[in-house]
Amino acid sequence: MDVSVEMLGKRAFSEAIMRERLPKAVFKQLKKTLDYGAPLDTEIADSVAIAMREWAKELGATHYTHWFQPLTNLTAEKHDSFMDPVGDGTFITEFTGKELIKAEPDGSSFPTGGVRNTCSARGYTVWDCTSPAFVKDIPNGCKVLCIPTIFISYTGESLDFKTPLLRSMEAVSNQAKRILKLFGKEDIDRINASVGVEQEYFLIDKSLYERRLDLKLTGRTLYGAPGPKGQEMEDQYFSVVKDKVSYFMNELNQDLWAYGIPAKTQHNEAAPAQHEIAPIFETTNIACDQNQLVMDTLKRVAARTGFACLLHEKPFRGVNGSGKHNNWSLSTSDGENLVSPGKNPEKNLQFHLFLAAVLAAVHNNAELLRLSAASPGNDHRLGGDEAPPAIISVYLGDQLDDIVNQIIENGEVTKAIKGRVYEPRCSAIPPFKMDATDRNRTSPFAFTGNRFEFRMVGSSQSIGLPMTTMNTIVANTLCDMADELEKAEDFEAAAKKMVADMIREHKDIIFNGNGYSEEWVKEAERRGLPNIPTTVDAIPYLTSEKSIKAFGRFGIMSESELRLRENVMFDSYAKTINLEALTMIEMANKQIIPAVMDYEAKTAAGIKDLKSIGVSANAQVALVNELDERLTKFRVAIVELKRRVDDAVNHNSTPKEWATYYRDVVAAYMDVVREPADELEKLVGEKDWPLPTYEEFLFEQ
Ligand code: ADP
Ligand code: MG
Repeated sequence: MDVSVEMLGKRAFSEAIMRERLPKAVFKQLKKTLDYGAPLDTEIADSVAIAMREWAKELGATHYTHWFQPLTNLTAEKHDSFMDPVGDGTFITEFTGKELIKAEPDGSSFPTGGVRNTCSARGYTVWDCTSPAFVKDIPNGCKVLCIPTIFISYTGESLDFKTPLLRSMEAVSNQAKRILKLFGKEDIDRINASVGVEQEYFLIDKSLYERRLDLKLTGRTLYGAPGPKGQEMEDQYFSVVKDKVSYFMNELNQDLWAYGIPAKTQHNEAAPAQHEIAPIFETTNIACDQNQLVMDTLKRVAARTGFACLLHEKPFRGVNGSGKHNNWSLSTSDGENLVSPGKNPEKNLQFHLFLAAVLAAVHNNAELLRLSAASPGNDHRLGGDEAPPAIISVYLGDQLDDIVNQIIENGEVTKAIKGRVYEPRCSAIPPFKMDATDRNRTSPFAFTGNRFEFRMVGSSQSIGLPMTTMNTIVANTLCDMADELEKAEDFEAAAKKMVADMIREHKDIIFNGNGYSEEWVKEAERRGLPNIPTTVDAIPYLTSEKSIKAFGRFGIMSESELRLRENVMFDSYAKTINLEALTMIEMANKQIIPAVMDYEAKTAAGIKDLKSIGVSANAQVALVNELDERLTKFRVAIVELKRRVDDAVNHNSTPKEWATYYRDVVAAYMDVVREPADELEKLVGEKDWPLPTYEEFLFEQ
């Protein structure tokens, strides 16, 4: 299918469509909110609702829903039809401003982290006009108008990722504006925290996926012996896209473009069957909504093109896992990027201040940033030989490193490394200018020329918490800086001194070397940088005194909003491991053990036949013995795993105790269970092994 221009953005109630369809005065009112966060005038809601309804109906929508992001990393929707009975057996289509602005769904079955009793249910969803509504169009399914909303408990706490994200955007905007004001930039409407999300994923054959209970229930393979080939030949990264995958990517792009999502970059990733999609960056709120829709669309399009899309952080052991790279920047509503060094970085005091702010924010809040990317899936990835280490550090590259060193040594910057010109030494190829800075692929937080790339986030995770955290810690730092600078008599001198003081204080967060190396772990420890290996270790930092202060200062999250999230994270950790363990047991008892017993019996029967004709059958005897030894080991381990899972009820006096038990007693033991099973896979004949193998998943795409 060729892209028709009319397709682009067709399913999004974008600013352009609003301009076209709303009464002029209404659009003008709304635009004030969109452009610089002026309070929404609810009087206009009826008018917007009518335009939205008519537009959605033209696209075939029969239903509408408030579309929100509970603390599950997924989105939620509850459809209501536009049809209302008028009493004489006929219907009219209704959708009013009241319905657009607020709904009151039953919120009882969403994670609440104990903020309320199980029996209480009321929750509210409220329209977020800053993110365009869209019509979800499922082939041969319902067409539903989706209205992005926040989600609030009856008790007043936010129960979603969007609410704190919106608050954090406002906070960082307000604080950055204070700094710009000191540079005489008084008329900035708003400063946008933006993010471009690179999303990694696996595509595997749907029929193979259907035969794996572990993939279907937990998203990752709980068993599976490595095949002879993995990614060591480096023949997958940026390789030629297979026809079938290209078909998938085309379908995906069509869908995303129709939603107004500017899907831009696509390529094969480092692992076999792994790929990436990256839309162009947007403000963090819109990018967060779009990324949720990207994840949803990846799965849907995969299903209709013969694939299954895996978003788990580590679907296959021993093979690169998937993450998201969150490219974060701050820019004014006039388009000036505040984290870009510009043409003359040595003279750019404003940039130096923002650089110092980011370094200080990341150094002072490394635990919090690490926590924001913590999930049971990401525990398999961070610190491995592929993903960033669990230690937070900042990569600056040559140009900024040189600037920072000049500041540390002399308190000021006099020169900047410029990109050199490369001379290709053949006349057909023109000379070109190289960047002033290399890239670093091992850093969890890398400067990439005009943005910072937070590379730690897990592939299945909402970017809500990581981006809220980023905005919050930078807002706090900028606020401290502005407090001091606003009092200074000589602003420029005070700013230069502040940059020098801050960079000297926070230089230990900078690391330009190989983040995967053992030496770095030791060096980071010497520098006092936190190394937080697992999710369970990271979660408590959410409610540390420092975090409560940081999130509380601008009302981004209250202490109870943090505490409920802490509980949700512990709870979700324990439940994830519990599900994995139960799935392991189920697959063992229903599939693996019976298959090995059959194979053993078949081989044993052959022994008798061979002996009857005078053949020694030594190989068969040895094989049966080997099988039996491992089968016994496996079954014993499965029984023990079951015992450990059953015993979890005795270790749940607090959410933390419960999660800790699952990590130390259950998750750790799952490796013991897996080992004999993977050995059995290597011994049992192909036709007799009940599960699709790694070779099939990775190379029969
Ligand atoms: P890489 O080469 O690092 O893999 P990609 O091209 O895959 O990068 O993705 C880079 C992402 O960064 C894109 O989403 C892009 O829109 C985004 N990006 C570019 N400039 C900025 C910026 N100033 N602020 C935020 N994101 C940006
Ligand atoms: Mg990329």
